[in-house]
Formats: sequence, structure tokens, C-alpha cells
Amino acid sequence: MSDFTLGLVGVGKIVRDQHLPAIAATPNCHLVATADPHASLPDLPAYQGLEAMLDVHPDITAVAICTPTHLRYSQARAALMRGKHVLLEKPPGATLSEVEDLIACAKQQGVSLFAAWHSRFAPGVAHAQQWLADRQVQRVEIEWKEDVRVWHPGQAWIWQPGGMGVFDPGINALSIATEILPQPFFLQQARLLVPSNAQTPIAAELSFTDPEGAAIAAAFDFRQSGPPTWDMHVESSDGSRLSLTQGGCCLMIDGELVVEAEEREYQGLYARFAELVANRRSEVDVAPLRQVADAFLYGHRETTDAFIE
Ligand code: NAP
Repeated sequence: MSDFTLGLVGVGKIVRDQHLPAIAATPNCHLVATADPHASLPDLPAYQGLEAMLDVHPDITAVAICTPTHLRYSQARAALMRGKHVLLEKPPGATLSEVEDLIACAKQQGVSLFAAWHSRFAPGVAHAQQWLADRQVQRVEIEWKEDVRVWHPGQAWIWQPGGMGVFDPGINALSIATEILPQPFFLQQARLLVPSNAQTPIAAELSFTDPEGAAIAAAFDFRQSGPPTWDMHVESSDGSRLSLTQGGCCLMIDGELVVEAEEREYQGLYARFAELVANRRSEVDVAPLRQVADAFLYGHRETTDAFIE
């Protein structure tokens, strides 16, 4: 596979925790520079913005956009218009319309656009998808709960429009569900609990169904203390039960352990990006973002206690 040079846009928590080790493990991806108004990385040229980075480094062929979501569109579009391949951290945009425009833009420019749903690269997901492919789903229970102070420390943007609140992690669950469930599913009801000093929910309860009437329930909560719960249980009409737990690291089918592996999602994600870049192909699935948009469109909103960091 051919080599490519990368510029990172936004040097925050996810870049330090996940992108850097994954890039280091991707032999054909060469990190050249970063763009962030304040943060930088040791021994790497750093610029305060994307344009400045690309002006000085015309050799950069691809960028990974890892800034807060409301900045995704303008930065991705600027990079695409300069002929760069673009990896979009999840969620791929603040709105569906802007993602659609990015897809058109990438096509017009003949470059790769990759909506990186990292949770789909969890070790148990592909096997779960295969197992469910020819089954009829009867019931699904999704629980995605984590402590916002641990996973999003000081991130004020998460409470602002476009920040998505608890849907920022919740969309990871939806990215798995839209990948593994054999039928499309649709929102029936949603309850969104929004802190009195925020624009986005701290917790959400969602009910969906599919064309065959499956009961699909999801509970997202940012108020968890202790370890996170990132679990999904699926019952099929033949009485079998699949459990994908620990964010997809562990897969059990009918009580038998099928997959238990270390989390290495971002390595898989960069390997896929490298493949897409080599073939100038794009991969942008908006299904998880559409589910979130539907929840905001159709959910009951209730005000709850103010969130104090
Ligand atoms: P973060 O820690 O707030 O990092 C974002 C970085 O972008 C900050 O350093 C921020 O600088 C910088 N930035 C702000 N404006 C910029 C601009 N105009 N140009 C370049 N950089 C700019 O957030 P994060 O947790 O890394 O999340 C970033 C994205 O990744 C989000 O969309 C999130 O949904 C996604 N993600 C996060 C996680 C996670 O577990 N945290 C997991 C997967 C995906 P300032 O702080 O100075 O504003």
C-alpha cells in the first residue's frame, strides 16, 4: 500500500489517547505536522490553524479532523478543496446536511473522505454482524453509560449546540447497532434529560423498532460513576441471545464466550483509512448521525439539574 503524509487538526484528548499510538502502528502513515490554537506535540511542527499548516506543508496528502464537532465541516471542506484526503473523527458533522455536502465535495475533488466510526472496529463487532445477518431480531437492549468528568474533562463544547451531550458517546452505540442489526430501525420515542445550564442532554432513553416490530431500547447516561457500561444485548426469534459488552471487546453467544480481545479500534481505523486513500475511495455512513438527529427531532425534552464540572 502506498505511503501518505498526515496533518492532525485538533490536538486534544482523543488524539493523545488514540490517534498517536494508532498512527505509530500504521507503517505507511507519516505524521508531518499539527494544527491547534494552543496544543502541540513534541518534535513536530505545530501551527495554530489548518490553513497555516497546509500552506507550509504542501506535501501533506491527508488530514485527520479531531476538533470539536461544530468545527468539522469548515475544516474538512477547506482540506478537501485543497485536494487532501480527509478522516473525520466521529461524529462526521454537526448536521446531516453538512456531511452530505462534504461527500459531494470529496467526489468532485477525487479524494477520499472517511467517516471514522471507531466503535465499529471493536473486536466483536464483525462477528456479531455476521451472526445476526440471517436472524430475525426480537429484542435489543443497549446501555451506554459513562462518567462525563472522566471521559470529557473540561469539554465545554459538549454542552453546546452540535456538541451532542450524551449522544457524543451514545452515537458510538448507534454506530455499532446500525452496523450489526440486520434491518434498519426507527425511533418511536425518546426522552432527553437536559441540564438547566446546557443545550444538550446528559441522559437519554430511546425506543426504536424495525420493520418486523423488534423492540429496541437504548439508555445513555453521562452521570455514571465508576467504570463505564458499554453493553448491547440482542435476542433473536429463535431464542438465541448475543451480548456485545465492554464497548465491543467481548462477545458472548448463548452464554459462550466467542470473542474477548484487547481494544485496538484506532489501529483498524487507520488501516482502513490507508486503504481508502490508496484507492481514492470514500466511506461515509450517515446512519448513526441520522439516528441522533431523529432523537433531537422527535424526543421529549425535560430539564434536569444544572451540570457543574
Ligand atoms: P478536546 O480534548 O476538546 O480536543 C479538541 C482540540 O481541538 C482541543 O485541543 C482544541 O483546543 C482544539 N481546537 C479548537 N478549535 C480548533 C481549531 N479551530 N483548529 C484546530 N484545533 C482546534 O476533544 P476530544 O475529546 O479530543 O474530541 C474531539 C473530537 O473527537 C470530538 O468530536 C469527539 O466527539 C471525538 N471523539 C472523542 C472521544 C473521547 O473519548 N474524548 C472519542 C472518540 C471521538 P482548545 O481546547 O484550546 O479549544
